[in-house]
Amino acid sequence: MGLVVQKYGGSSVADAEGIKRVAKRIVDAKKNGHQVVVVVSAMGDTTDELIDLAGQVSPIPAGREFDMLLTAGERISMALLAMAIKNLGHEAQSFTGSQAGVITDSVHNKARIIDVTPGRIRTALDEGNIAIVAGFQGVSQDKKDITTLGRGGSDTTAVALAAALEAEVCEIYTDVDGVFTADPRVVPKARKLDWISSGDMLELASSGSKVLLHRCVEYARRYNIPIHVRSSFSGLRGTWVSNEPQGDQVEHAIISGVAHDVSEAKVTVVGVPDKPGEAAAIFRTIADAEINIDMVVQNVSAATTALTDISFTLPKTDGAKAIDALEKAKSSIGFDSLRYDDQIGKISLVGAGMKTNPGVTASFFEALSDAGVNIELISTSEIRISVVTRADDVNEAVRAVHTAFGLDSDSDEAVVYGGTGR
Ligand code: ADP
Ligand code: ASP
Ligand code: MG
Repeated sequence: MGLVVQKYGGSSVADAEGIKRVAKRIVDAKKNGHQVVVVVSAMGDTTDELIDLAGQVSPIPAGREFDMLLTAGERISMALLAMAIKNLGHEAQSFTGSQAGVITDSVHNKARIIDVTPGRIRTALDEGNIAIVAGFQGVSQDKKDITTLGRGGSDTTAVALAAALEAEVCEIYTDVDGVFTADPRVVPKARKLDWISSGDMLELASSGSKVLLHRCVEYARRYNIPIHVRSSFSGLRGTWVSNEPQGDQVEHAIISGVAHDVSEAKVTVVGVPDKPGEAAAIFRTIADAEINIDMVVQNVSAATTALTDISFTLPKTDGAKAIDALEKAKSSIGFDSLRYDDQIGKISLVGAGMKTNPGVTASFFEALSDAGVNIELISTSEIRISVVTRADDVNEAVRAVHTAFGLDSDSDEAVVYGGTGR
């Protein structure tokens, strides 16, 4: 029996009962002969509540202090979980990200893991303990400051530890039975996938399917770590995510699923001189503010003015920072004005099969049109088509596309066991 890393998300440890239920599951894995490392998230919506609290004292909180605040959430759950396990008569020790050897760069609020040195975890395991690690956090290599890995980052902690400890599997326990063809909260007829390739999962995750964080899937793909996404509330087999199918795992048909995302906003830079270097200046300004953008669209310039508009999408949470940075660079870039729209949503269709099946794009647009949904921006990759629409249209659009591609399930397998969907 080898080493397993299990990660429990916030909805699985939302209250004392949840923590006790999870503790039993962990002890069962230990009793089955595994060495067990557990990565745990903050209880329920604790992280959101801490973010709200920070916003009440400062509109743009300092990154270092923000991270210090947010990591408190995971410290609470790790200590409680270790106590609950001890109460069941088994040895457990909790560790912060820093103590567990999660070393990151120093970009606060979205740090990247650059090394994992889990010496203390190994020692704890060798002494017969279950090791509990606070997810979503690390320590910066240069300044030794506490950092966080970005929302949903406990998934990445789990995979990074699984890689460093050479675990046989990384189990991600959540509030649904696995990865579905769409978010079960939006599509009650969503179908559970038995297996999904890391490539398709990566596209779904970066298109907003928050069941797994995209960085975690990236990491797992690079280090070839199989992930098993499953519910902490049921005993069902979940979804395996890996580079290649193993054993009885079967590849899904042309389309793996439909993702949606209402966490982005659109910035339009109005009246940009249509000459070389302008787009570079805009996006350098955004990059220097450590902001990742998603889609970009430049309109053709009006012949009379030689001015153009450039729109791009970015996380809403970076909206204020982006506007601030662009306003400061306004005179040097030389645009007229900025427009900010946070009432947008994105719908994406993902599947490696679309590379070789003509007509997928046409059917996607027809489904949206039949649902009366207007498209504002479009972007594609080899295995994904995404569109931006009004936020209010997103749920309807996801259901329409899901049905149009024959993904609706006949059974009621899309159970949501917990969480608030926040
Ligand atoms: P956790 O607290 O366990 O980290 P998350 O809320 O981050 O849980 O992720 C689980 C949620 O992801 C589900 O409750 C579901 O609403 C959402 N989700 C979005 N897309 C999918 C999908 N394709 N399959 C399963 N769940 C999805
Ligand atoms: N607690 C953090 C969040 O809510 C990290 C995580 O749950 O993965 O984003
Ligand atoms: Mg999550």
